[in-house]
Amino acid sequence: MRASDIKIEEIIKRDPKSGFPLFGSHRLMLSGIASLKRFGDDLNLALGHDKMRAILTRLGYENGLTAAMAIGEMYEFDSPLEWLKSARSLLIMAGIVNLEFTTLNLDYDSKRLEFSVLGHESFEAANYSANNPDKNPNTICNLLVGLLSGFASAVLGQEVLVRETQCMVQGNDICVFEGKSVSFDEADLKAWQKQLTLEPLDEEITRLKAELERSREDLIRRDTEIKRLRKKVLSPEITHGLIYRSKSMSNILNLASKVAATDVSVLIQGESGTGKELIARFIHKHSSRKKDPFLAVNCAAMPETLLESELFGHVRGAFTGAANDKKGLLIAAGRGTFFLDEVGEMPMDIQAKLLRVLQEKEVRPLGGTAMEPVHARIIAATNRDLKTLIKSGRFREDLYYRLSVFPLTIEPLRRRREDILILARHFLSSIRPDHHGFDPRTVRYLEKYSWPGNVRELQNCIEYSSVMAGNNSILSDHLPPAVISEGPSLFSSLTGDVPSLAEIEAHYIQWVLNQVQGNKKEAARILNIGSATLWRHLKKHPD
Ligand SMILES: [Zn+2]
Repeated sequence: MRASDIKIEEIIKRDPKSGFPLFGSHRLMLSGIASLKRFGDDLNLALGHDKMRAILTRLGYENGLTAAMAIGEMYEFDSPLEWLKSARSLLIMAGIVNLEFTTLNLDYDSKRLEFSVLGHESFEAANYSANNPDKNPNTICNLLVGLLSGFASAVLGQEVLVRETQCMVQGNDICVFEGKSVSFDEADLKAWQKQLTLEPLDEEITRLKAELERSREDLIRRDTEIKRLRKKVLSPEITHGLIYRSKSMSNILNLASKVAATDVSVLIQGESGTGKELIARFIHKHSSRKKDPFLAVNCAAMPETLLESELFGHVRGAFTGAANDKKGLLIAAGRGTFFLDEVGEMPMDIQAKLLRVLQEKEVRPLGGTAMEPVHARIIAATNRDLKTLIKSGRFREDLYYRLSVFPLTIEPLRRRREDILILARHFLSSIRPDHHGFDPRTVRYLEKYSWPGNVRELQNCIEYSSVMAGNNSILSDHLPPAVISEGPSLFSSLTGDVPSLAEIEAHYIQWVLNQVQGNKKEAARILNIGSATLWRHLKKHPD
C-alpha cells in the first residue's frame, strides 16, 4: 500500500446506526474555517501570542497523532515513508492544506527523520489574509505545525518537531515547514519544544477545543471540492492503455517497444489471464505496421482442419464443404501483425507447415498450387513451457527457435502485487464510475490472494463483488468465496484436526479447480501434473 493509493471516500464513512461520520473507527467532528479564526483570536486576546501558539500547536498535534494512528490501523503501508506521506491525502480531505514534500530523509532504525514540506493554500494563512489586508511579520500556521508534528511522531514512534520557516502571511507564495526528530539532539530543537509546553489550563482548553471541533463540520462537507481533488490526486498509472506500476511490467513494455520497431519474431510467455494479447497489440500499435490489420487466432480453440484452413486458406473443393476460395489469415493480415495465441497447442502437422511459411515467407492454400507471399509479422504466445513440450515430442524445436527470437515473459499477478490495487480500481471504475470503492479490509484480501487466474480472475472478481455490493463500498463479504477462503493464511479454511498431506492435496486440487471454473486441462497445467494424474485423483476423491 502506498500513500497515493488512499481513496478518501473509502475511509470516510457514515456510521449506519448513529449517522455520525467516521474516519476508520474514529467518530469525526467537523468544523469551519471562520470559527477557527475566532478561536485563535480569542486565545490571543485571553492568553497572549505565545500561549495561543502553544495551544493551537498542541491541538494540531493531538489531531495529527490520532489521524496517523487511524490510517495506520486501516492499511499496511509499504514503508514508514509511505505512511508519513499519507498525511497529504488526509490534510487535503480535511480542507487544511495541500502538501508537497521536498525532502524526506528517514533512518528508521536510528529514529532519525528530517523533512521539509511546502504548504500550498494553508487554510490558516488563507483565513488570516481574508481578514487582514496587511502582511504579518510572524508565521501563523500553528495548527498545521502541530498536525505535521503529531502525524510524523506517530509514524516514527518518537517525537518529531516541526517549525514553519516561512508563511504566506509574510508575503510569500507558500508556507514552508521543516521537521526534525528530537534524536538529532540539537539545542534549538529543545528550545522550540520548550516553547510548546504549557501550564495546565485544562478547563479553558477543553471548552475551546470543543468549540473548535464543533465548527469543523462545515469543512469536510465540501464534497464537491473533495471529488475534484481526488480525481487530480488519484489517477492510476496508465501507459498506452496498460495499467501497472510494477517494475516487471514496466520492463516488459520497455522491451516490447524496442522490439516493436523491428520485424523480429516475438514469443510472449505467461500464465493464462496475464494479458499476453494486450502485449501483442501493444507491439503492433507501436510498430510501423500499425495501420495494417492485427489478426489473431487461438490454436487451442479449434479442430486441426479448421485451424489449418484458417491459417493458410484453401481453394474451392480442397475438402468436403470448401465451397469457395478462402484467404488464410496469414495472407489477410497483409503487412500487419498476425498473433498466434496458445501456440503450444498447435498440432505437429501444422507446426511443420507453419515452419515452412516462416522460412520461405510464402504460403500455399490447401488444395491450391500457387504460392502467395506472406508479409505479416508473427507474434506467438503460450502459457505452456515450450521446452518441456519439445522434450516430450509435442513441439518442434526448429519452430520454437523461429518463433522465440525475442522472448517476453509476463509475470503472474501474484509476483507483481503492486499492480493488484490499481487494476482492481480500474476495473471497478469502468463498471461503476460512481462506486464508493473498497473497504480497507477488502484491499488487504485482494493484495494477499494468489490470483491463479491472474488479471482475468481479478477482473471477474471485481465484477462479482460490485454486483454483490450494490451501491455500498465493497466489503470483504462481497468478495468471491475463493478470495476469502484463501484468507490471510493458506490453511485458514482447514478446520478440525490437523489435516494429513493427502487431505491438503485433495483440498488444494479442489481449490485450483474452483479457480479455473472446473477446467481440468487448465487445473492440471497450474498443478503441473498430467491430465491423467488429475483424472485419477478426481476418481479417488469424487467431491
Ligand atoms: Zn503559513
